[in-house]
Amino acid sequence: MHSKQDKKPSIIWFQGLTCNGNTHSFLNLENLEKLLDKFELLSHPTLPSTQDFKTITDCTLICDIFIFEGTYDPLMKRNNVLVSNIIEHYSKYAKYIIAAGSCASFGGIFRSSAPQRNSGILFVEQEKSGPLLSYERKVINISGCPLHPQWLSYTLNMIEKGNNIEIDSLHRPIELYSNLAHHGCTKNEYFEWKVDTENFGEKEGCLFYKQGCRAPMTHASCNKILWNEVSSKTRVGTPCFGCTEPNFPRSNLFSTKTNMSIPEDVPLGVPKRNYLTITGIAKTFHIKRLEGKLIDYKTTD
Ligand code: SF4
Repeated sequence: MHSKQDKKPSIIWFQGLTCNGNTHSFLNLENLEKLLDKFELLSHPTLPSTQDFKTITDCTLICDIFIFEGTYDPLMKRNNVLVSNIIEHYSKYAKYIIAAGSCASFGGIFRSSAPQRNSGILFVEQEKSGPLLSYERKVINISGCPLHPQWLSYTLNMIEKGNNIEIDSLHRPIELYSNLAHHGCTKNEYFEWKVDTENFGEKEGCLFYKQGCRAPMTHASCNKILWNEVSSKTRVGTPCFGCTEPNFPRSNLFSTKTNMSIPEDVPLGVPKRNYLTITGIAKTFHIKRLEGKLIDYKTTD
């Protein structure tokens, strides 16, 4: 996008209705300073920026990359200026618009406070109908509640290098969202042999059948690009909530919806009948190694 002698690409990070979760997640990025060195940060809610917030809401600047965090509410104002006007101004001139997190991508949690009004910047769930339809080709969705800091870092680095970012039909980078969150989970063997866990926080057992794990139907690389470079929710025994998908949040996040004990949703792309046949067979094996504790801490007298 720019040669070495060009000035650094400028970023404005702007917030709609938000809990700040994506901002906080981004602050956890390893080598954050190294990444930020490549850009001119005009405005950010918490990081040192070159412009004051009044200048941003007055819309007297333009930027190369406009990052929007939070649900879009057309009636919301910042410094007495309608957010809709601010978004329109920066989106018009920006080369890239990044929706940071699931609220900005699809509406997310804050959409429920006014479902007829609030939305993502380009989507309402999986339907295109946000305020940035005219700038659609510039929008990249980094969904997640919160987004993974390395997913945003990857996207910014690709932009800075002038590389093309392939996106899926929901405008998420394919490189980051082609995997299912299930891929790479350390509990995959339990899933294959249908060994469930009854509790959270266990090393053993899969969370799919009883605890609501959505990883087999969720596009995300949480078990490939680990959180804090060490772990993921499912690796520590907590179900995936499917937070990168447009239908997030669902109700009853900690339970698997079943119909006559059969999971209502089965792994993506697998015909239900075939899945049930395989499940039935796998369950008959009762593999001892998988039914016990991985580490048997025997008490000594
Ligand atoms: S806990 Fe979730 S991600 Fe891990 S194997 Fe089971 S279904 Fe897959």
